[in-house]
Amino acid sequence: MAPEIKYTKIFIDNKWVDAKSGKTFDTYDPHDGSVIAKVAEGDQADINLAVSAAKRAFHRNSEWRLIDAQDRGKLLNKFADLVHRDEEYLCALETYNNGAVITMSRTFIPRVVDTIRYLASLADKIQGDTMPIGGDLFSYTLKQPVGVCGLILPWNVPILMFISKVITALAAGCTVVVKPAEQTPLTALALAALLAEAGLPPGVVNVVPGFGPGAGSALTHHPDVAKISFTGSVEVGKLIQQAAGANNLKRVTLELGGKSPLVIMNDANLDIAVPYAALGVFTHQGQICIAASRLFVQAEIYDEFVKRAVAFAKARVVGDPKDPKSQQGPQIDEEMMKKVLGYIEKGKQEGAKLLTGGKRIGNQGFYVEPTVFADVKDDMTIAKEEIFGPVQSILKFDTLEEVIDRANDTNYGLAAGIFTTNIDTALQFSKHVEAGVVWINTYFSTSPQMPFGGFKESGLGRENGMMSVEAYLEVKSVITALPKKL
Ligand code: ADP
Repeated sequence: MAPEIKYTKIFIDNKWVDAKSGKTFDTYDPHDGSVIAKVAEGDQADINLAVSAAKRAFHRNSEWRLIDAQDRGKLLNKFADLVHRDEEYLCALETYNNGAVITMSRTFIPRVVDTIRYLASLADKIQGDTMPIGGDLFSYTLKQPVGVCGLILPWNVPILMFISKVITALAAGCTVVVKPAEQTPLTALALAALLAEAGLPPGVVNVVPGFGPGAGSALTHHPDVAKISFTGSVEVGKLIQQAAGANNLKRVTLELGGKSPLVIMNDANLDIAVPYAALGVFTHQGQICIAASRLFVQAEIYDEFVKRAVAFAKARVVGDPKDPKSQQGPQIDEEMMKKVLGYIEKGKQEGAKLLTGGKRIGNQGFYVEPTVFADVKDDMTIAKEEIFGPVQSILKFDTLEEVIDRANDTNYGLAAGIFTTNIDTALQFSKHVEAGVVWINTYFSTSPQMPFGGFKESGLGRENGMMSVEAYLEVKSVITALPKKL
């Protein structure tokens, strides 16, 4: 049964309001393309109101600024309790609006609760230093929240992205305006309601659904926004950095795309490597920035690996994401489905060998067959550009040195992986590969304690881990004269 849609308006000052323009936009179920709800479409006027609310909530005398750091952590833990209480509802809503198979949504939510608790635990660990700068001077640093933050979310893992950004900013003591992706506004609104229920003062978290060039752009240009954290495409990431620089030199954290290399050495255990490599690119229909979308397999095992990869892809169960038996759901929307099918056509035209899949499934919803290409070459479009679909591209290599150089020959640098039973090979690869995360004999595992982000065009800064809170703080040095003599 479809989950009840409780919130479709803009959330400002802990109240639900219509867009100033009165406009709404449709949000869809990617399983069949049907309209789930009409959601308020925020633009510059609504962003202005939300930023004003966040600015008031950040005033030095506001309830939020005066709250004890430990109590800030307790409040965030109360929110974690509420997310845990509403787990089933949030999973259903995420799957309904985003097309993530329900089994994946269910594994994500406990992870989300753990992430909130981890970030909440950092709220009272924000400490400065004392520095020995001279006998008659006493100096120390204060770490203070940067101010109003604009948080712009992608559609691929909406709940997790909301939590990573919002709770980190709150742990640091900031106030925020969130712009969820236009494709998936519903869980962000449901989470905002839970933050209010947990007791967050008005204005601390505001959520303005809308489109990128409208609400998103207004946020990145707003002079009262001190920091933007964004996850999405490289193209928009560059626009955001320009807007931040041209305006009031906003601080910026960017988590952008990837074309992550996964390397399978001759000595790898194929019983483990084949499923990991496949899940590395088919999980969530390939719509994950760390997808293993360039699979390098060493020459000696290449043919055997390809045979097994094809068998794995053919066995995938694709269907309604609400059905617990489905392993793969639909792409997020028609535009993304067409983009993925376009890449598959390009792969065929440029001479890659299509071994399975390659087509749309049915004519309802946005389903694409699990697809495997062999004989992929480095200069083919499918080996260079981020596809964001269930397309496995298998390339052949001979030596470790060669594959490291080929793995690094990209503007991206988000993730990488290697399967080998030789520790020297694994350590050499992890030392030289240009990526923000490297997996050895595994893939995809991340945790709230582990910094996450990219080298090169894959981003700026890191989320998760202790250092994520630092990105929402300013450091102030204070120098005090001591009495000359007692
Ligand atoms: P994708 O291509 O995966 O949809 P985008 O980078 O286009 O990713 O979008 C990610 C987020 O950025 C969404 O919330 C979107 O609305 C927002 N966005 C898109 N364009 C802009 C822009 N010019 N300024 C600010 N935000 C934007």
